[in-house]
Amino acid sequence: MCGIIGYIGRREAKPILIEGLRNLEYRGCDSIRIAILDKGRVRLHKEVGDLGKFLEHLPPISGRLGIGHTRWATIGGVSKANAHPLSDCKGELFVVHNGILENFKELKKELTDRGHHFASHTDSELIAHLIEENYEDSLEKAFVRSLSKLTGSFAVAVNSKKEELLLGARRESLLVIGLGKGENFIASDIPPLLKFTNRVICLEDGEVALLEKDRVRVNYMRSSSISRSRWKPTTLVVGGCHISANVLSFHLE
Ligand code: GLU
Repeated sequence: MCGIIGYIGRREAKPILIEGLRNLEYRGCDSIRIAILDKGRVRLHKEVGDLGKFLEHLPPISGRLGIGHTRWATIGGVSKANAHPLSDCKGELFVVHNGILENFKELKKELTDRGHHFASHTDSELIAHLIEENYEDSLEKAFVRSLSKLTGSFAVAVNSKKEELLLGARRESLLVIGLGKGENFIASDIPPLLKFTNRVICLEDGEVALLEKDRVRVNYMRSSSISRSRWKPTTLVVGGCHISANVLSFHLE
């Protein structure tokens, strides 16, 4: 069980991702990686081991849009090459994934036959290459088209040099959006967000979220926009607080 944290906004992403990763470590972790974008350039740092080891060699990295991941290997061994975020052939987009993609072998073979080069032994890297393959003019459309080809479970977040946004989606794995002022967050659980916001959207199975620094939009994977009224209320219990409704507000003591 691994963890996802993503940030887009007005502040430096690095300390926010580190704080998020710190609050995801309880889920277990064998390697860590972050990808931060700054004016069309990407800065990556990865390490096998825990957050302490990761922080020992972390270089100065600036940028206000990033994703990070604590991996717990299920497909592909524990190695730096298999740490998420994983990239497409051109190194333009970055993907973090929790879950297991059941049809990855077939799809990986198809993509390899079409000339894609895979740098890891994970199932997750497949998502980056599918998006690359499906990209025409919109990352969001390519993302949705790619997800429709997958069987298995996923919570996934993506950033890219092409567009200043974060994308997230889930099927059978938890993914939540944190709402801020001039900034938004994505994570695989609520605790990494608690220091930054008390407003959270819990995505439902099949939902796709697009995050910019000033807005968040949630669509359903297989159709056009859904309205809030169609969202089913959810009830969660976090640290003893009962939280109701899909836009969640909770008060911490
Ligand atoms: N299947 C992915 C990997 O092994 C994600 C791991 C997980 O969710 O634990 O990299």
